[in-house]
Amino acid sequence: MAFEGLTERLQNAMTKLRRKPTVSEADLRETMREIRLALLEADVNFKVVKDFVKQVRERASGAEVLKGLNPAQQIVKIVNEELTSTMGTEAVALNKSDKIPTVIMMAGLQGAGKTTTAGKLALKLKNEENARPMFIAADVYRPAAIDQLEQVAKSIDVPVFQLGTDVDPVEIVRQGMQQARDQHNDYVIIDTAGRLQIDEKLMGELVNIADLAKPDEILLVVDAMTGQNAVETAQGFNDQLELTGVILTKLDGDTRGGAALSIRAVTGKPIKFVGQGEKMTDLDVFHPDRMASRILG
Ligand code: GDP
Repeated sequence: MAFEGLTERLQNAMTKLRRKPTVSEADLRETMREIRLALLEADVNFKVVKDFVKQVRERASGAEVLKGLNPAQQIVKIVNEELTSTMGTEAVALNKSDKIPTVIMMAGLQGAGKTTTAGKLALKLKNEENARPMFIAADVYRPAAIDQLEQVAKSIDVPVFQLGTDVDPVEIVRQGMQQARDQHNDYVIIDTAGRLQIDEKLMGELVNIADLAKPDEILLVVDAMTGQNAVETAQGFNDQLELTGVILTKLDGDTRGGAALSIRAVTGKPIKFVGQGEKMTDLDVFHPDRMASRILG
């Protein structure tokens, strides 16, 4: 289960605090030490942990909270609020273009869930907005990638524009965009190449596609199971591409929490959606407050 260790440790710290008839500065220090260790163990970025602990301690110490009614309960509330704020406070909606099509570019390392998530997003747009999305298959390095996109697309009844693997991806995107305009598709979702790691060629190609397609969204798909690697990946992509958001996948797995809690604070980019399963319907809008409550258990 996701966040299992983190939730358990945070709950233990809070339970200990609740048992105390009064809460002293020393008790608070001890609680913050436990929270700090719990977050580090959950693979949360070191600086994010530091800022978080500082913020909670500042709000919780002093007479107002410690000498007030239910200090433990107030501290729990502060922890919840600061977790929420670390993850971005509010859900952030998808950017939309004034005129169709809205262009969404999907980026990510191989295996992160990019193609699956492209399908989930298209289905969500179809179901919730009655939209007519179209995919562009711009991953020309693995023939299997186009087949996979075709399969996903077929299962949700969405058309795919593709020119096989022998045409330059930028040219594929150019022609695909023209077709979407001709056919009045309201969304274009570009599935770009994934690699095992970030390399210059991949980045250069993504930048060229973005220059041409001028996407309203550049969404990076990252695997929550990879913890700090997901955060580094996000930073690496964000250095070269103007990401508009992140989609965190595999939150149905037993991720420790590091990616969910660090990405926003480290990159400044919002998590817009979370993938919580392998089915096409398993994509949810990311709500920082609900995630904080889920982490706290
Ligand atoms: P890509 O290489 O980035 O395009 O990744 P794929 O879309 O092929 O996904 C890789 C694997 O991750 C597939 O087996 C997907 O079914 C799986 N996957 C993607 N998203 C999720 C998710 O949210 N939860 C789970 N459990 N599996 C996922």
